[in-house]
Amino acid sequence: MRKELKDYKNLIDKCVLCGGCHPDCPTYQLSRMERDAARGKVLLAKALLDGELEPTRSMAETFGHCLTCMACVEACPAGADPVKVIAAARAAIGKKRGLGFIPRLIFSTILPNRALMPLLAWGLGIATRLFKLLPPVFPGIKGMTHGGKKRLMPAFHFSSLKGMLPDVIPAKGEKTMRAAFFTGCMADWVFTEGGRAVVDILTLCGAEVVIVKDEVCCGAPAFFAGDRASAELMAMKNLALFATADADYIVTSCATCGDVLKEVYPDLAPGGATKKFSDKVIDFQKLLAGPLLARLPVKPHSGPKLKVTYHDPCHLSRGMKVMKEPREILRRLPGVEFIEMAEADRCCGGAGTFSADYYGDAVEIGRRKAENIKATGAQIVATECPSCEMQLLDMVSRFAPGVEVLSTAEVVRRALERK
Ligand code: SF4
Ligand code: SF4
Repeated sequence: MRKELKDYKNLIDKCVLCGGCHPDCPTYQLSRMERDAARGKVLLAKALLDGELEPTRSMAETFGHCLTCMACVEACPAGADPVKVIAAARAAIGKKRGLGFIPRLIFSTILPNRALMPLLAWGLGIATRLFKLLPPVFPGIKGMTHGGKKRLMPAFHFSSLKGMLPDVIPAKGEKTMRAAFFTGCMADWVFTEGGRAVVDILTLCGAEVVIVKDEVCCGAPAFFAGDRASAELMAMKNLALFATADADYIVTSCATCGDVLKEVYPDLAPGGATKKFSDKVIDFQKLLAGPLLARLPVKPHSGPKLKVTYHDPCHLSRGMKVMKEPREILRRLPGVEFIEMAEADRCCGGAGTFSADYYGDAVEIGRRKAENIKATGAQIVATECPSCEMQLLDMVSRFAPGVEVLSTAEVVRRALERK
């Protein structure tokens, strides 16, 4: 049976109102308004549940103004898990108020249907190219403009990475494992070079890589927007598809996809088959730093080193608990000098649709991240989340020009190719 807000009452009741979540909450630090902190949202969720408040539009906006960065989950001494409560409140409000025609169409019809995905990608491909051409004052573009400068937006490709790859890519040399690569929509349609780099490094290290061509969106956009029914539909489809891949691991290179497959699917579709699936889900960096690291063909390097820093995506560091692995990988590359940045695990402000709905706040949160990157003197900032990559590209263009944004797999590939 589908979980509802009342099923999270135990988490709501755990909140002891201590305010321990305030110092680490980026939205609260920006506005200093209680409703922007986890405690305020947990209290509002309780009022919704008790029928003391109605699911109004302003209530929907309040719950939407959250990065789901999980800094509050980490800080909470009482185990209240505010992000689960916020997601459940969004779902309760979405159920009562509806999501609007376009989001409903995307979540319930396009994203769960691989055959329709090119329509969305082509539409976004045209929109992202048009966006680049139109002036910042154009109506509709204004919301994505801050300080007179438009958001820097990577364009959607008109052909997908999965469409260009074969079903199975053999290991180079002795095969040590079979890994199904869950590309996610962004590596499939936007950051395709990052996706290719994952395949290149995995095969180079002895993995046979399986591409599940009919894979659909992981469901994160629907889940975090409060459309639990569509998220469940996508979970069921992916669970059935990957069950036939006969893989030792299901590899993700998107923090949000990985966290949703591993942590949210068991909540959306409880059962033994989901547990088996989720147990196999592993972040690319964790796999590379673990069983594959000894097979990474590193060579001595005598020239100048690439200065690289690393940004921790929230769903990877706090969700999948992957933090030491990217650092181990980057430190192992002979041509790379790894430099730790301050507040590496602080949210970059991207957070999927947050940066579209609250662009001004996304810039203010991202400014601090870009300044921390700049202070390291690094040439490259690596990360493992396409949503973070999108936000970092925009933020470094504003506040740390000249810094390149790459996925960890791309940094590894570049380091291996250097003479
Ligand atoms: S998830 Fe992040 S932005 Fe949302 S309430 Fe918690 S700390 Fe604040
Ligand atoms: S959510 Fe946790 S940290 Fe925040 S006020 Fe409640 S108990 Fe304290």
